[in-house]
Amino acid sequence: MQQFIDSYDFKGKKAIVRVDFNVPLNDKFEITDDTRIRAAIPTLKKVLAGGGSLIIMSHLGRPKGVDAKFSLKHIVDHVAEKLGAPVQFAEDCQKADAQAAALKPGEVLLLENLRFYAEEEGKPRGLAEDATDEEKKAAKAAVKESQKAFVAKLASYADCYINDAFGTAHRAHASTALIAKYFPNDKMFGYLMEGEIKAIDNVLKNAQRPFTAIIGGSKVSSKLAVIKNLLGKVDNLIIGGGMGYTFIKAQGGKIGASLHEDDLMPDALQIMKDCKEKGVNLSLSVATVAADSFSNDANTQVVDIFNIPEGWEGMDASQESLNNWKKIILESKTIIWNGPVGVFEMPTFAKGTLQIAEDLAEATAKGAYTLVGGGDSVAAVTKMGYANKVSYVSTGGGAMLEALEGKELPGIAAVRE
Ligand code: AMP
Repeated sequence: MQQFIDSYDFKGKKAIVRVDFNVPLNDKFEITDDTRIRAAIPTLKKVLAGGGSLIIMSHLGRPKGVDAKFSLKHIVDHVAEKLGAPVQFAEDCQKADAQAAALKPGEVLLLENLRFYAEEEGKPRGLAEDATDEEKKAAKAAVKESQKAFVAKLASYADCYINDAFGTAHRAHASTALIAKYFPNDKMFGYLMEGEIKAIDNVLKNAQRPFTAIIGGSKVSSKLAVIKNLLGKVDNLIIGGGMGYTFIKAQGGKIGASLHEDDLMPDALQIMKDCKEKGVNLSLSVATVAADSFSNDANTQVVDIFNIPEGWEGMDASQESLNNWKKIILESKTIIWNGPVGVFEMPTFAKGTLQIAEDLAEATAKGAYTLVGGGDSVAAVTKMGYANKVSYVSTGGGAMLEALEGKELPGIAAVRE
């Protein structure tokens, strides 16, 4: 049975908490962005304040085995500072029995990177490139088998389990999904997970109308499943960014050297047809800021989206497109934004994306529920200083994308089951 962190009694209990401390480090192993650490602090503090002790577990990067570069020891001091409590470190997540057993209420133990073990992801490592299918199958079966002891060991350290790692909720890993069954009556989400789940429900289950999705970014292929899922739910679908040109080319437009995916043109046409059938107002760009090279210093001109000259590529939404979209956004009561509407990393082509961020902030101030999640729109809205002016900014790119695709995330299902 799922428990809730606000009503759970942590007094004298050891809580093993899966967090996402996969923070970026520079070459001196200094943290360059601690957002993910800060995001988990309320949950960690709640356990300590309730008289419990903490066993914190996470992954960092994509190590192929034990690798000092990816050691969580680099972040121990920072976690201690943010938590306001000393943090002990277990150099091997599978050999922390004594340290875990000795923990007293208020004490904290951080386990070494879970991904030093292949069992965390449950995928075999070190397979020869020319391994046969039989060998691959046997290796997979072997790691799945040894995964059982790996999970059991982690579970043995604690009395209750908290999952607060939304960033990996879409992965059925040992620490995100499999461990939950060892705590049938003592498993729960942390505050971050609760917040993300509520945000997902606010848009997918309880959306107030008009409901608008703004989907941008580079490729139709990576957003196809999201669009398909949202088509049955939204009133307006705004498609911008690099992916928009596939829709224009599919209709016979000339898109010059703009980004596009020829093999996705039938899907683009199908989306247009589905929108018509379902009464969804599809709004594509009408004109674009085109450049003569993929560079911030390129020459630019605003051109009709169906007539982009040879050698020029669409890089940002034009003012006319943005005005159309602003009208839709300000009339909406629920808005999801996923993916920038231009090459926002280059200041010359960031105006459209900035405008969308501003429009979302204005809609939020007027009472709309606005969710920014999945893909680069989160980076854009944060970089542009609008993160506090929208209703919710998701912390999990891939996880939010899969949630918006309508998939049940293993990390969520395992706690709810
Ligand atoms: P995604 O991760 O799918 O949200 O895609 C984000 C990327 O799409 C960013 O790196 C943007 O620079 C890129 N992007 C957006 N619009 C365009 C465009 N018109 N041409 C090329 N890339 C674009």
